[in-house]
Amino acid sequence: LVEITGVRKLFGATEVLKGITLTVEPGGVAVIVGPSGSGKSTLLRTINHLEKVDGGHIAIDGTLVGYEVRGRRLHELREKDILRQRTEIGMVFQNFNLFPHLTALENVTEAPVVAPRTDKPRSTKEEARKRGLELLDRVGLKERAGAYPRQLSGGQQQRVAIARALALDPKILLFDEPTSALDPELVNEVLDVIRELATSGTTLIIVTHEMGFARDVADTVVFMDEGQVVEQGSPEQIFANPQEPRTRSFFSKVL
Ligand code: ATP
Ligand code: MG
Repeated sequence: LVEITGVRKLFGATEVLKGITLTVEPGGVAVIVGPSGSGKSTLLRTINHLEKVDGGHIAIDGTLVGYEVRGRRLHELREKDILRQRTEIGMVFQNFNLFPHLTALENVTEAPVVAPRTDKPRSTKEEARKRGLELLDRVGLKERAGAYPRQLSGGQQQRVAIARALALDPKILLFDEPTSALDPELVNEVLDVIRELATSGTTLIIVTHEMGFARDVADTVVFMDEGQVVEQGSPEQIFANPQEPRTRSFFSKVL
């Protein structure tokens, strides 16, 4: 369960998130849409504490992200504890961010060997390898396990990045425009992998401009504009029957 409550974020004097409240149920899929600069990436980054919040809080399964309550005050966690929390939150970026000097399989296995979740036993090299091959199989790339990123297409690299994010068995997976750096013909192979995750009960928060995909996979669609959640609801509600003028105006441009 992801609970985002009244989250505010400022860059200098500019308030980029103006009190965001949003709940994602376990196994739920929230898709965030909205114009450029509305704060979508910033919101995702606050969820794994890549950005500190200036107000409000975020909790995952009841545990505060980045802070703990001591006495009656919030204290920021130490770097070590923040890193541990981050291993519970997978993130997939627009630009894949694979390690160029590691093979597909090594990219996937590196994380669990080097930075395992501390609540699980550290996996041996052999266990990590077996699990890595399973994950590559899941994203349709078992045969390319030995390939380096430069030998893979953008769509294949992004699928490796998804397998890598899954390797730590995260509580939630965040996607920030996972297909927007891809050639159009490679978009679907990545969306299909995310569709499979969505139906298999992984909790997902996805920022995307792919509206057809959003309609298919979302339990809830969140429309953001100027640092606020303008409207939120089922895909049917938001796409077919938006209530807010700003939502209607946005969809009239992108749909
Ligand atoms: P896009 O669809 O273009 O990716 P977005 O909705 O993801 O946009 P953000 O990247 O979250 O938008 O940015 C929201 C606002 O915050 C923008 O005005 C941006 O310029 C500003 N911003 C983001 N990161 C920083 C930063 N590190 N320092 C200063 N301003 C920032
Ligand atoms: Mg963004």
